[in-house]
Amino acid sequence: MCGIVGFTGRENALPILIKGLYSLEYRGYDSAGVAAFTKDGLRVVKARGRIANLEEKIKEEGGDMYCTCGIGHTRWATHGEPSVANAHPHCSKDKRIVVVHNGIIENYKELKEYLQKKGFVFLSETDTEVVAHLLDYYYKGNPLEAIARALGRIRGSYALGILFKDQPGKIYAVRKDSPLIIGRSENGNFIASDVPAILKYTKNVCYISDMEIAELTKDTITFYDVDQEILEKEFRTVEWDA
Ligand code: GLU
Repeated sequence: MCGIVGFTGRENALPILIKGLYSLEYRGYDSAGVAAFTKDGLRVVKARGRIANLEEKIKEEGGDMYCTCGIGHTRWATHGEPSVANAHPHCSKDKRIVVVHNGIIENYKELKEYLQKKGFVFLSETDTEVVAHLLDYYYKGNPLEAIARALGRIRGSYALGILFKDQPGKIYAVRKDSPLIIGRSENGNFIASDVPAILKYTKNVCYISDMEIAELTKDTITFYDVDQEILEKEFRTVEWDA
């Protein structure tokens, strides 16, 4: 089942992502990765095995990974062996679009063939990578439009966290038959597979429903349906603690 966590806000996102991934460890995983808007652009780091390996790799690769917006993932391989290439996030060409995914894209083979014919180059064996390229295929500057069109093509179960290179500071999230929650705090906004990943920062959460799209900035959370109509959603206070 594995995990997703994302943060956009007013403080360093990286420690929040790493801590969040640690609190989702109970779900099981075989590799981990993060993507972040850093001062050097959108950066992706992935590692096989434990989250500690990912932390090590971030240190080894050096560079300043300070960021106030990013997404993280722990993978439980369903399509393709546990490896760095198959670990998430997955990217379209030039990291124009970066995706983390929990679940299974059932029709990934036909989509992969379709996209390969259009010239898209795949770097992993995962079902997830089709989502990154499909979004890229549809993206003409309006993320909601691209997501809605991609959702019309993919079948299966998914919780997705998505970054668009030309939309720094924004996280898009959508789900179908795979858990995903949205959290908000004074310091910023979150996505997560489950409450424990963000409980240290907020108890104010919203459970998004199937096919609802959330757009997060550091100050705002907006929900849309697949027709890009705004939805009014209620936040609740989680009554328990870690
Ligand atoms: N099906 C995807 C993969 O194998 C996602 C697995 C997961 O939920 O972590 O990469």
